[in-house]
Amino acid sequence: MIFCPHCHETCIVKNGHTRDKIQIYKCKNCGKRFNDLTSTIFSNCHLTYEQIVVFLQCFSDKVSIRKTSKRMGVNRNTVHLLRLKMLDSFKETKKQIKLSGKVEADEIYRSINLKGTKQKNMPRFSKHRSSKGTTVRGISGHKVCIESAIDENDTMFFEIVGTGPITSDMVKNSLGTKIGNISKLITDCKSSYEFLAKERHLNLKQVKSGCYTDNEGNSLANINSAHSGLATFLSAFRGISTKHLQGYLNWHTFDKYLQYSFTELQQNNTLLKVSFTNETNLNINNAYDNYSGIDFDAVYSDFHYIPSRTN
Ligand SMILES: [Zn+2]
Repeated sequence: MIFCPHCHETCIVKNGHTRDKIQIYKCKNCGKRFNDLTSTIFSNCHLTYEQIVVFLQCFSDKVSIRKTSKRMGVNRNTVHLLRLKMLDSFKETKKQIKLSGKVEADEIYRSINLKGTKQKNMPRFSKHRSSKGTTVRGISGHKVCIESAIDENDTMFFEIVGTGPITSDMVKNSLGTKIGNISKLITDCKSSYEFLAKERHLNLKQVKSGCYTDNEGNSLANINSAHSGLATFLSAFRGISTKHLQGYLNWHTFDKYLQYSFTELQQNNTLLKVSFTNETNLNINNAYDNYSGIDFDAVYSDFHYIPSRTN
């Protein structure tokens, strides 16, 4: 059933094709025209159906932007923007994650990557800094903290929670919003998990560092293996900008869910459905904004950078 994306009425007539051979419709109720790709991530991209199929196949196979652009016959910027739109559409699937049963949680750290940040928006060293400083010194000391968890059904959760060591508040505001009916929360001995466990009356089991299990046999084996799976996934892409890291975390989570739940054909259909049903507000003007939730100016301020927006 075709309905109008503007007024949701179903009195629709065909009204020609776009130059990319996409069917156009006209709504007899509101008079507006739309096409098969309106309200999908492919609207306004000027792609044919064939190019969309090639894109989705390449995306699913994690083919590089460069190779994908060759196969589609479009420029790299178009492919990169489409990838960012796909990643953006996964934020809806992230919202639906609920962890249940036995949950293992831990965190990982990644260096900040400012790739894709325009020169004028880059944090810069103050000219008044001491002569000892080099442009890269200190940056590696600032790592992005990613809270991560996996439950007994292999449902995974990865979320950027800030920079520096994890705190009780970070745990509460990320993991705390994702736990449903959990029987056991297994972590290492960090105190940041104790606050959440106490507040929510969770059965907290903490494995001492250097030990494989606690005295009841609880271990962090599943979350450790989820971390190495994530590292492998991320390493396939050369230098992911921190601005878009959460999108890649969501992609990996969704990718794993597809692999566990569906056959290969079903996986591609599900991907197609996500790209056609989840709207994205990303466009060429805002797609490269900072969506990490991390204020780079604040992060670099203690290194005597001057703020980027000096006007
Ligand atoms: Zn209408």
